Formats: sequence, structure tokens, C-alpha cells
Amino acid sequence: MGASAISSGPAELRIEDLTVAYGPRSPAVQGLSAHVPAGTTLALLGSNGAGKTTVMRAITGLLGQHGGRMVSGSISLDGVDITQSTPAQRVRLGLAQTMEGRRIFSELTVEENLRTGAWARPDRPGVAKELAAVFDRFPEIADRRKDKAGYLSGGQQQMMAIGRALMARPRLLLMDEPSLGLAPKLVDRVADIIEKIANEGTTIVLIEQNVAMSLAVAEYAIALEAGRVVLESEAAALAEDDRIQAAYFSAVSSTWPKPDLS
Ligand code: ATP
Repeated sequence: MGASAISSGPAELRIEDLTVAYGPRSPAVQGLSAHVPAGTTLALLGSNGAGKTTVMRAITGLLGQHGGRMVSGSISLDGVDITQSTPAQRVRLGLAQTMEGRRIFSELTVEENLRTGAWARPDRPGVAKELAAVFDRFPEIADRRKDKAGYLSGGQQQMMAIGRALMARPRLLLMDEPSLGLAPKLVDRVADIIEKIANEGTTIVLIEQNVAMSLAVAEYAIALEAGRVVLESEAAALAEDDRIQAAYFSAVSSTWPKPDLS
């Protein structure tokens, strides 16, 4: 009974004392612990090379593909230790990821790309329903469903990349730079989408170059520097923190927040 093996509802993620290294070099991430309660969003902050992507790889189990390994620590989903689980097993437990740089299959159609996101789902009718739901959520790609994905605009490709992850109906969604390269209006749109996905019952871990946007949508944030946690706090408090302002608020973030209309 494959289908019934998939739990529903948001997952709780716990990372304990994570240390990761690539080859003999000093660790890329060192001693990181994080608790992401079910249904909440965690923002991972840090400049280039701080270790954010490495944390994501540890969660997905894809470190090995990049020459990395967990030196110590553990990762659990809903209290179940998945440290030794394969990437595919983690997907079956409800983990999905939106790719950085919109790594899409440009020769496949939009619909085919979306369907690849549902490979682990055994329930065909559920997949068809999900596809309809993704097209409802992203009308701008619904009209292009039979077009090759390579012909979509950058913004449409980003929507498709998010839609592809949603096809798995994830309980834990890892989002890597979902607003990268998007115009300010589309950054607003992506922020709304992230909040909606979270509210509908998905736990999210978010890496965003647009720090202001990520702090606006996240409940909690962790800042990394050279692989170590240097700050962790409720996101709203960090948004006001001078150290965060000085370290991470670059020109790109000035496109956020949306004007206060109250
Ligand atoms: P960016 O935003 O630039 O991706 P990041 O915060 O995601 O930065 P990571 O990509 O996790 O940082 O990199 C953390 C450290 O690990 C860096 O020193 C980086 O050079 C190193 N690193 C990342 N991937 C590899 C790899 N496949 N092999 C060797 N070293 C790596």
C-alpha cells in the first residue's frame, strides 16, 4: 500500500550538530543545529560560500554527489532519523526541492517538466489533480503547457520550477534562491507564493539572496558565516537588527518590502 505510506501534513525538521566537509578541506559547515517546527519557514542567511547550499545538500542526502560527506551530526524528519536514508527515500517521506538557477529540462514541455516532479507519487489520479492545481496557481504557465520549457521567460521558468516541486505535494520544501534574477514585481509574487505554500501546510527552508524578502516570509532565521552559525533569531527581530542590515542588506534587497499600505 504505497500511497498510504505517505504521511500528510507538514513535517518537522531537526538538524543536530551538523558538520560537513568536502575532501580533506576544513569543514564547510560546522556544528549547525536547527529546529524547524512543522508548518514554519526557516530562512538560511549568509554570503557566498557561507555554507547554505551545503546545509540543503545534507538535508536532501545529495552531499555525496558533490564530493561532500557528513562528518558528524544527524537529521530527522518528524523525529525519525534520516541521516542514513538515500535521497529517494527522503523524497518518499515528503521532501522536495526547488532548484537554484531554474535547472529545468529545456527540451521537455512545461507539462512534462512538471510531471517529473511527481516521480515518487504512486497515485496517478492525485498527480493529475496536482497538475491542475499547479496550473491554477500559475496561470502564466498554464497557457504554455505544451511549449518547450526552454522558450519560457525567466519568471515563467521560475514559476515552473516551484510548480515542479509542488507536484510531489511536499511536506518539507527546500527553496534555493527562488527569486534569483526576477524583476521586483515577480519577487513580490514569489514571496506571496511562498507564504501561501507555507499556510497550506508545508514546512519550508529558504535560501534567498533577497534577505529582506526572506525575513518577511520566514518565522525564524539562521545566519551562517564560514560554515558556523553566527546569529539565530525570530525573523521579524532580525529584520530590525543592525548587524543583519549591515552584513546582508544589499542593493538587491532594496526592492523589498512592498509599500506599507496600512
Ligand atoms: P553560495 O550562495 O555561493 O552557493 P553557500 O552559502 O551556499 O554559497 P556553499 O555552496 O555551501 O555556500 O559552500 C560552502 C563552502 O563549501 C565554500 O567554501 C565552498 O567553496 C565549499 N564547497 C561547496 N561545494 C563544494 C564542492 N562540491 N566541493 C568542494 N567544496 C565545495
